[in-house]
Amino acid sequence: ARIGVADASLLRDEGFIADAWTRAELGDGGGATFDVVNPATGETLVSVAKLGAAETRAAIDAAAAALPSWSATTAIVRAQALRRWGDLVNAHASDLARIMCAEQGKPLAEARGEVAYASSFIDWFADEGRRTYGEVIPTHDANARVFALRQPVGVCAAITPWNFPLAMITRKAAAALAAGCVVVVKPSEETPLSALALAELAARAGIPRGVLGFVMGDANAIGEAMTGSEIVRKLSFTGSTAVGKKLMRDCAGTVKRTSMELGGCAPFLVFQDANIDEAVKGAMGSKFRNAGQTCVSSQRYIVHEDVIDEFGAKFAAAARKLVVGDGLRGKTDQGPLINARALAKVEAHVADALSKGAKVLCGGHRVTENGCDKGVFYAPTVLANVPRDASLFREEVFGPVAALTSFADERDAIALANDTTAGLAAYVYTNDNARVWRVSEKLEYGMVGANTGVVSAASAPFGGVKESGTGREGGKHGIEEYLEVKHLSVGGV
Ligand code: ADP
Repeated sequence: ARIGVADASLLRDEGFIADAWTRAELGDGGGATFDVVNPATGETLVSVAKLGAAETRAAIDAAAAALPSWSATTAIVRAQALRRWGDLVNAHASDLARIMCAEQGKPLAEARGEVAYASSFIDWFADEGRRTYGEVIPTHDANARVFALRQPVGVCAAITPWNFPLAMITRKAAAALAAGCVVVVKPSEETPLSALALAELAARAGIPRGVLGFVMGDANAIGEAMTGSEIVRKLSFTGSTAVGKKLMRDCAGTVKRTSMELGGCAPFLVFQDANIDEAVKGAMGSKFRNAGQTCVSSQRYIVHEDVIDEFGAKFAAAARKLVVGDGLRGKTDQGPLINARALAKVEAHVADALSKGAKVLCGGHRVTENGCDKGVFYAPTVLANVPRDASLFREEVFGPVAALTSFADERDAIALANDTTAGLAAYVYTNDNARVWRVSEKLEYGMVGANTGVVSAASAPFGGVKESGTGREGGKHGIEEYLEVKHLSVGGV
């Protein structure tokens, strides 16, 4: 591999099943591999073992074998194992960031930030596992006593995306392990190297054999082995809405529990009484972080007509200053998109908006200068006068494109913000405290940032409503996703 890391044994190219690095010798595809490509340079970094249904079943069986002893350990013992894992993640932050930057493209500083974010979930759930209290319920029968026990769901599966290659795994796996569950993870084939480095560190931390497995390769076959399995009792997915719907349908066959963290199309409301400089700062972070490839990225800027010109001009001026380039080389604010398909999607959205009368305030094109010619780079883009029937107001762009439209009336702004099938994150800027509450309560979203462009933290519940998904990750709610409530009635008292 062409990634300079201090600890070369973090670079793995095989699945991790039952404590062993594994290639596809079990199934039909024996010996097959797939390439992991650096989106900033187009170079192949490494070929990784392509696993399928047979290896997934083996990982599920190994997890099932590990479940009785893992779920029977105390929460304190599980917390200690998780903490060792989290400490190793922090100790190897620099290598993990370089691996992530190489396969995913986000600038090194952002990658370092994600490593810390990823370990914060391990830290949080190590503690939270000790607080999965049950209940003593006032009895309906003088001769009985009634309890609610909270027990681990059992064998879980997790399918994770490429945009946060470490944090989306720890947010699920640490919650599951803390609750006493065991997990098989399928990371994105775009970013398996970060995931496999996590597997290596979990092994070093002494997470027992089978408790945490990793398979990747044929996404569809792996997904169907997971969803079709009677052993797997829960699937947690983060990714596109289309794939999430398919997985939900497939889980119906075995009535699995699901957590779905799907796409967004976040509105960003700016009222006439907002601090415009603060709003621009929030917009910059929530739009251009990870080149706009986050499910909570703001996309539809709904700005009061009195302040839209000022907001648009300041936003475009700030966006124009961002340095676009390879995150591994020098100072970079925005890296590449993940692949050519992502770039084509962004270009199609922008072309659609321009054909309907939108105006470019900045960007609106690919970037090929300054060493960007071999990669998949798109300029930070702010579009004004975007008509409400443009695709940017309907579908997630997942790229560095902001679409501005104006409003005159608060109710109209809220209606427009809610006029989407998505319901993940929304942002509102206003200095009127009553308006903060009024608008936040009416927004049909799982998360609202009021006078902030950041809505995620290990301590807070993350998730969406409507077609953005079900369930919550992080916070005290995140561990509930991995617990069942059992009613125990003790008679003859
Ligand atoms: P994106 O389009 O942003 O890559 P996806 O939903 O395709 O989002 O990817 C999220 C995760 O879902 C990845 O791990 C990907 O491999 C996985 N995935 C994609 N298609 C399927 C499928 N048919 N079955 C199971 N997993 C899938």
